[in-house]
Amino acid sequence: MADEITAAPGRAPARLDWSYAPAPEATDHVKVRESYGLLIGGKWVAPLSGSHFKTINPATEEVLASVAEAGEEDVDAAVKAARAAYTKTWSKTSGAERAKYLYRIARVLQERAREFAVLETMNGGKPIKESRDVDVPLAAAHFFYHAGWADKLDYAFPGAPGPRPLGVAAQVIPWNFPLLMAAWKLAPALAAGNTVVLKPAETTPLTALLLGEVLQQAELPPGVVNIVTGAGQTGAALVAHPGVDKVAFTGSTEVGKAIQRTLAGSGKRLTLELGGKAANIVLDDAPVDQAVEGIINGIYFNQGHVCCAGSRLLVQESIAELLVGKLKRRMATLRVGDPLDKNTDVGAINSRAQLDRIEELVASGEADGAEVYQPPCDLPERGFWFRPTVFTGVAQSYRIAQEEIFGPVLSVLTFRTPDEAVEKANNTPYGLSAGVWTDKGSRILDLAGRLRAGVVWANTFNRFDPTSPFGGYKESGFGREGGRHGLAAYLDLT
Ligand code: NAD
Repeated sequence: MADEITAAPGRAPARLDWSYAPAPEATDHVKVRESYGLLIGGKWVAPLSGSHFKTINPATEEVLASVAEAGEEDVDAAVKAARAAYTKTWSKTSGAERAKYLYRIARVLQERAREFAVLETMNGGKPIKESRDVDVPLAAAHFFYHAGWADKLDYAFPGAPGPRPLGVAAQVIPWNFPLLMAAWKLAPALAAGNTVVLKPAETTPLTALLLGEVLQQAELPPGVVNIVTGAGQTGAALVAHPGVDKVAFTGSTEVGKAIQRTLAGSGKRLTLELGGKAANIVLDDAPVDQAVEGIINGIYFNQGHVCCAGSRLLVQESIAELLVGKLKRRMATLRVGDPLDKNTDVGAINSRAQLDRIEELVASGEADGAEVYQPPCDLPERGFWFRPTVFTGVAQSYRIAQEEIFGPVLSVLTFRTPDEAVEKANNTPYGLSAGVWTDKGSRILDLAGRLRAGVVWANTFNRFDPTSPFGGYKESGFGREGGRHGLAAYLDLT
């Protein structure tokens, strides 16, 4: 952003350039292998399917590696390895011993944090400052937190007769927080004494595979965690496998429903963490500048590829003009571009397919008659990019107000009274998260109690902590991850 200052008499005005110089993070300490196999029974093995797929850097479209695509026989081998490890080793390992492994994994993650952060950004497109400051530290925190519970399960659930592990857990995760979602799934499962077959998302398998190396480095017994890479078919084969006792899925509502149908009547335990369309509600007494920061964080963090993103801004009519004006000015300062640059705020869209979906929904918003604003910014020529976008004049019936866009696109709606805000906020098939901005604690408590959302943030947004349960209502799924509630999902407490 260049600016001119008034010249001293007789001298030309100086031009000041306020933009940051490029500050790219080095990548030479990250060793990406040409080809990756599957982690089964403690060994890296070639897929029996004989099939591989390419994984790319979405910011450059460069191929990073070739990754094994697990077929049904591979999934079967992984489930059998998990069962053998459960029966012979893990179910006989004391809580205190399991804790030692989890602490070890957490510490190795911290030691190798830079490697993980850079690889996460290369494979997923998220800004390095997010993978460095959010994804990796939170992933380590999840292992630390659950390590603490592993030898205290008897005390965690007062009244329950001796918590027992469920057996083999099948875990399927999405591409928006690849390492963090793996940590959310693995840490409670292992702390509770289960063994696991994990399936990372097809566009972002690399940090889960690096985590597989860390598990070996931590000398986790073979077969306790198995990693099978592949796309939807691999996931479908895994969740349907009769040798699985528990399924934990994070992903789209559509696939979540399909899994629920597959599992009906099977007796397998199931938790689903699905999509969202969160309302971020700003009342007229809110601290407006703080709220603007919270709105920006709520929707542009991780390019809006966040299930709990504050994608519907509900603002009280009397402050709407002021707030939207400030929001647009703040949006113009967001730096969009090279995710490996330490100053980047908004990185690359995760995949071509996701970019197509965002573009289609944004076009529908324009066709419906909403007013669109995008700050001017230069986008790189290669890779998948979308400018931070805000829609005003949005009606509740528009697709952009109803469907999950999963991109950097905000829809602004207004309301007159808190009751109307609650009614609009709850007018969605989803129920994952919500935000409330106000000066008054009583208003926070009143609204939080009436919002049908698993998480309600007050005067903040997108805060995560391993001690705090996270999960949804309605089409956002069921079950909780994090805290004691998350641990309970991996235990038989009857
Ligand atoms: P997706 O449902 O297409 O894929 C998620 C995972 O499921 C991937 O690993 C995929 O390979 C696998 N999969 C696809 N079809 C399958 C099938 N039939 N059976 C089993 N597994 C299958 O979703 P996505 O596009 O990867 O992720 C985006 C979605 O995830 C968004 O809707 C978002 O809201 C949701 N999400 C939710 C949370 C949460 O905690 N609630 C967190 C992150 C993402």
